[in-house]
Amino acid sequence: MDAADAPEAGEAVQVLRRVFGYDAFRGSQQEIIEHVIGGGDAVVLMPTGGGKSLCYQIPSLVRPGVGVVISPLIALMQDQVDALRALGVRAGFLNSTQDLEERRLVEAEFLAGELDLLYLAPERLRVEQTLSLLDRGKVSLFAIDEAHCVAQWGHDFRPDYLALSMLHERWPDVPRIALTATATDATHAEITSRLKMAEARHFVASFDRPNIQYRIVAKSEPKRQLLELLRSEHAGDAGIVYCLSRASVEKTAQFLVENGIAAVPYHAGLDARTRAEHQARFLREDGLVVVATIAFGMGIDKPDVRFVAHLDLPKSVEGYYQETGRAGRDGQPSTAWLAYGLQDVVQQRKMIDGSEGDEAHRRRLSAHLDAMLALCETVQCRRVRLLAYFGQDSAGTTCGNCDTCLSPPQTWDGTVAAQKLLSTVVRLQRERGQKFGAGQIIDILMGKKTAKVIQFDHDALSVFGVGDDLREAEWRGVVRQLLAQGLLSVEGDYGTLVLTGTSGEVLRGGREVPMRREPEKAARAAKAKAA
Ligand code: ADP
Ligand code: ZN
Repeated sequence: MDAADAPEAGEAVQVLRRVFGYDAFRGSQQEIIEHVIGGGDAVVLMPTGGGKSLCYQIPSLVRPGVGVVISPLIALMQDQVDALRALGVRAGFLNSTQDLEERRLVEAEFLAGELDLLYLAPERLRVEQTLSLLDRGKVSLFAIDEAHCVAQWGHDFRPDYLALSMLHERWPDVPRIALTATATDATHAEITSRLKMAEARHFVASFDRPNIQYRIVAKSEPKRQLLELLRSEHAGDAGIVYCLSRASVEKTAQFLVENGIAAVPYHAGLDARTRAEHQARFLREDGLVVVATIAFGMGIDKPDVRFVAHLDLPKSVEGYYQETGRAGRDGQPSTAWLAYGLQDVVQQRKMIDGSEGDEAHRRRLSAHLDAMLALCETVQCRRVRLLAYFGQDSAGTTCGNCDTCLSPPQTWDGTVAAQKLLSTVVRLQRERGQKFGAGQIIDILMGKKTAKVIQFDHDALSVFGVGDDLREAEWRGVVRQLLAQGLLSVEGDYGTLVLTGTSGEVLRGGREVPMRREPEKAARAAKAKAA
């Protein structure tokens, strides 16, 4: 039977209005909901804020039995359940934060058919007791939220998710709906195969968030740059500032407060009460800025976040997209702003080199970082690049609402500069067996007789001073772009620069290296032209 003809079809809209108080479905919500109500499996790829929750909540209310929702977001379960209860939906959860008595109560409700929705942490399904509980009750559907956690290729892999393929084997007649906001082709394919959802219908929404303006700038004085952004464009606005470390979260929050901006820190090192309090204030108050590690934001539904700023480079394009996606859920103009510099690359390579896990794991982390760098250094429309990364073609159009569209970066032929820099690395690495970081290489190129240059006799190198035509910021740009193009690599604790397999092509003159001009110089060049 065609789902659209099903007698329940009208019921979905009724539930939407009666229970949730909304007038109409958005995007493909209705199609998805009717498909699942009809007993079909579904894989749903929809950006953050797209409205994934209703896609399993409404079928759970319409189908007989209890909808079981697998979610890794244990910290949010209480809130999700409270919000549903406030709407009159009978919801409960089972996770490790509960004591035995609380669990017993929820289990009894489940068995008595007194629940519409049951949220489960994935590790609960490792326990035979949970499985037999589900056997004894009536399950109407399984919703697998944050389904990208099953993908080892992805950025947020959780081993417990691998066991979820068992759902289909044990309960072949219960429909499953897998949902995620992460949508590369690789992740999508892995979700489908690992969860054994080859028969499912796939719903892939557009990942474009047209109201978000993407901007990526070179990092010089990150806190000052951030303050300038907030003062000039986002005074009094609510926003999230992401930093990599707890220490920089603290320092940045303090800096903003000292400069008259209402800001609070949020990271896993704060006690649970402070965290909950800062999160509650962010949701409740107007215009509060939360400075946070990426621990903050998963599942937080605040419609009027006007900006998301990154003071450090995200580890992957998926992460960047998910974090920036927390801006502008209400559809109003919002800013995604990222400051990144050479030091970010050095630091992240170091983290990858020192990370636990096998070589394949490190290669994946590296590939994620490379893709992020390529997005940072592109001279193309950011949105086009971002959507292309998620396998969505922009059909030759550009967005008009990102930094490269609004002020197209000038490019220059960086081949000679690249050759100078790479041959300096060659001189040190091949001829002397020495490896140095970007700072020393740039000092040599610019002909600076620093103590360290003299100590190592680097002023005697033939390349000493051959790069005095560029400023230091420009040389740093050259290094970043060579890294982003895979023509140079960085390794070790001190961020030493080393050649890659493709460096030779540039050195031999067999490859041109177009580069994005550093903004100050672009401005200077434009001024010179006007004069
Ligand atoms: P996601 O899980 O995809 O990030 P949510 O399910 O949390 O998104 O939905 C985002 C917001 O949009 C929520 O506030 C939700 O209530 C709202 N929403 C979802 N569907 C509709 C709809 N059809 N009409 C109005 N608001 C909706
Ligand atoms: Zn653009």
